[in-house]
Amino acid sequence: MSSTICNVASLAGDGIGPEVMREAIKVLRAVEKKFPLQFNLTEAPVGWAGIDAAGQALPDATLALCRKSDAVLFGSVGLPDRDPTLPKEARPERAALLRLRKEFSLFANLRPVKLPKELAHACPLRPERHGEGIDILVVRELTGGMYFGQPKKTEVISPGVTRAIDTMVYTTPEIERITHVAFRAAQMRRRKVTSIDKANVLENGVLWREVVTGIARQYPEVALDHMFVDNAAMQLILKPAQFDVVLCENLFGDILSDEAAALAGSLGMLPSASLGATTGERTFGLYEPAGGTAPDIAGKNLANPIAQILSAGLMLRHSFGAQAAAAAIEQAVGKTISAGFRTGDIFNPADPGARKVGTREMGDAIAAAL
Ligand code: NAD
Repeated sequence: MSSTICNVASLAGDGIGPEVMREAIKVLRAVEKKFPLQFNLTEAPVGWAGIDAAGQALPDATLALCRKSDAVLFGSVGLPDRDPTLPKEARPERAALLRLRKEFSLFANLRPVKLPKELAHACPLRPERHGEGIDILVVRELTGGMYFGQPKKTEVISPGVTRAIDTMVYTTPEIERITHVAFRAAQMRRRKVTSIDKANVLENGVLWREVVTGIARQYPEVALDHMFVDNAAMQLILKPAQFDVVLCENLFGDILSDEAAALAGSLGMLPSASLGATTGERTFGLYEPAGGTAPDIAGKNLANPIAQILSAGLMLRHSFGAQAAAAAIEQAVGKTISAGFRTGDIFNPADPGARKVGTREMGDAIAAAL
């Protein structure tokens, strides 16, 4: 059988980035042995590594590589203690990450939050609240709404009185395309979408609800319900197991995705995908862990590589349509957790079946479980 060629830019970045990326690549190489996929992985510097190599957080050559790739597997960037004189606009978080999001119009952010029952100790909620485990996918619109709407300004309107203005704007095509992303994701999961809005107060909420309801008719096998954002914030804590796919506009998604993330106990477990345009069968995407560069544990073989490995899994699912290979990565992670492998962030000394391991051993175990 001929293999599908997957051209991937691998941008490890700073801090724990290179350590966890190494493990994700190890797992992708194990995937290649089992599935008809061939990964053409090209590594390039980004973040402080980009500044050191080429004087820019996103060197021109790195951006050019991303342009000719099908997907970007990203580590993380930023080292707060380095060169405080470098202005914000040139620092990695803005000059690399935000630039990439903008450059590729990455409009859909997907954040799966999964709490396996073996890691219940890491969840801040009482056990009866999460039952058999939490498994939520937050789909957040990433390029519209209040963060980008115009006018956006701060002005002095009379002596001693300053006014700040942010504007929430959405158009029907913007709502339609993110709704399709959420419903397609739900088709691959438990077939339920909860759409979040504030239709009782905001014009945007009324339009959001109307458009989502219209698109839902194209997916009769997926159940849709609507929830006001204030109630959703509460329900995530009270009864997280009721959610499958949670669909949000940008601002609400920013807040609720972090709230949902806290339920999983460690940033080291949380992958993410930011999706752009679909051409033919392929969707361009940037895949990265939800956490940052973790300078406190960098270079010590302590970081949990699972977020990076699951990000590679999301890449297979969303950019390459390789559902079976993506599921195999998720199952291998599940098996490794069940077998007791734990990096420090998810280790519970009271669990007799748990064994503390380093970044490399965790990656080895997941690759072997494939
Ligand atoms: P952080 O996410 O790097 O770390 C927060 C805490 O979580 C730390 O205690 C860290 O050790 C832990 N942690 C994170 N990932 C882990 C993993 N894989 N395994 C085990 N523990 C893990 O957040 P921070 O300290 O606020 O930020 C550090 C730097 O990262 C900053 O420069 C920040 O701007 C940057 N950052 C980058 C991204 C990104 O590239 N997408 C995202 C967030 C933060």
